[in-house]
Amino acid sequence: MVHQEKDLRELVIKTARSMNALGINVNKSGNVSVRARVGELEGFWITPTGIAYEDLVAQDIVFVALDGLPHEEFAKQRKASSEWLMHAEVYRHRQDVSAIVHTHSVYATALACQDLCIPAFHYMVAVAGGNSIKCAPYALFGSEELAKIAAEALEKENACLLSHHGVLAVGGSLSAALKLAHEVENLAHMYTLTRQLGEPKLLSEAQMQEVMERFKKYGQQ
Ligand SMILES: [Zn+2]
Repeated sequence: MVHQEKDLRELVIKTARSMNALGINVNKSGNVSVRARVGELEGFWITPTGIAYEDLVAQDIVFVALDGLPHEEFAKQRKASSEWLMHAEVYRHRQDVSAIVHTHSVYATALACQDLCIPAFHYMVAVAGGNSIKCAPYALFGSEELAKIAAEALEKENACLLSHHGVLAVGGSLSAALKLAHEVENLAHMYTLTRQLGEPKLLSEAQMQEVMERFKKYGQQ
C-alpha cells in the first residue's frame, strides 16, 4: 500500500515535469492529480501550490479527500494547488476519470481569452470525445463556481478550455490526460494558424461521427 502511494505520487511529479518538457506549461501555473484511495478515504493526489516541479519530492504531493473535508491524518501536508476544488468536482462527477491535467498552455489559453472553442476544423478534435472542444465560461480561479463550470463542461467530453484561464484535460490515466492536454495545445496552435488564413472550413457532424467511430474501433479512446 505504502509503495503504491509513493508510486502514484512519483507519477504525479513525473507528469508535472513532462508538462514543462512538452512546452505546455510555464513555471507553476498548471497542476496535476490522480485519483487514489488512502485507507477508507477516497480522494486524489495533487501537486502542491508554490513549489517548482523540478524541486518536488513524493512527500510534497498532497492528498485531498473527495468529501473536501480536512482529515487529521493529512493535517501536516503541504498546501494543495489552488485549483483542488476543480479537480475534486470533476472526480465527483466522472467516475471514469482517474487523472486530471490542468495547464495554461499558450495557444489554447489565447483562444480561451477570446472565448473561442476549438470547432471541427481538424478530425483530431474528436480525440476529446465531441465535435468541438468547448470553452467553459469565466469564473475566478480556485472558486467553487469555476469547479462547477469545469465539471459541467466535462460532463461528456475529456477536455475543455476555461475562459480567460487555460485548459483542463482528463483521462483514465495520468499519461492519457497528459497526452490529451498536449493534443489540445497542438490543435489550438493549428486552429490559430488556420484562422489567420481565412474563415476556417469545418468538418460536418457526419464526418466527425465517422472519425469517432474509427477512434473507437482502434481503441484510441
Ligand atoms: Zn489555472
